[in-house]
Amino acid sequence: MCGGGQATVTRIVPCLSDNYSVLVHDPVSQATAVIDVPEVAPVLAALEREGWTPNQILITHHHADHVDGVPALKARYNATVVGPKAEAASIPGIDVEVVDGDPVAVGGLVGRVMETPGHTAGHVVYLFEEDRLLFAGDTLFVLGCGRPIECEPPVLWESLQRLRTLPDDLAVYVGHEYTVSNARFALSVDPENGALRARAGEAEAARAEGRPTIPTRLGDEKLTNPFLRADDADMAARLGLDPADSAAVFTELRARKNSFKG
Ligand code: ZN
Ligand code: FE
Repeated sequence: MCGGGQATVTRIVPCLSDNYSVLVHDPVSQATAVIDVPEVAPVLAALEREGWTPNQILITHHHADHVDGVPALKARYNATVVGPKAEAASIPGIDVEVVDGDPVAVGGLVGRVMETPGHTAGHVVYLFEEDRLLFAGDTLFVLGCGRPIECEPPVLWESLQRLRTLPDDLAVYVGHEYTVSNARFALSVDPENGALRARAGEAEAARAEGRPTIPTRLGDEKLTNPFLRADDADMAARLGLDPADSAAVFTELRARKNSFKG
């Protein structure tokens, strides 16, 4: 940012039972993007409250709980719908089909697309590195990650390792509020992690007050999210697995999470 421009503004919009849509606004150009649209009503209400007109809708993946509100939102504002090329056939109203490395711009906010297959085969995230923002959809959650539905777990592990190379001070917005249950699972596989214990307590307090646990700081996830730590020797040892085979450790973590009764 230069010339003393005002900082980007974001708004979190809770949707459905546990989804988040996010509004991103560039006060200089007045451009606004909506990241994922689980349902239209709360997103419209938030836009009207702010007095913002979205010119873009950025979609992370094709699941209904991320795209169902797109047709109505597009019709209301004539916004451009951007989404992964690999999932274009199942993203309603898509105008711009993006692949890894493609630029995206929200007014003066410049970002790029990263393909992060795993949860779905064509999942993308949107990185605005200069503004320290990452919109991760259902690839990464706070203290967790998406379920590998369309890919084998090691594919998701590769994608998470790519995200892990990004700067610690990124503010990460994710698609669901699963943090409290994710924290319980994380503690079950990493009980002595003091930073994790502290974050679990903070998450419970936030939810008790009805506050979202997003954004999360990527550096905090690197230290406490078990799904970013499958190549940690202590993690492998606790699971009784070969520390050299991080894909197997990740696969075991995912399997345990799927059957976890916390
Ligand atoms: Zn999904
Ligand atoms: Fe979802």
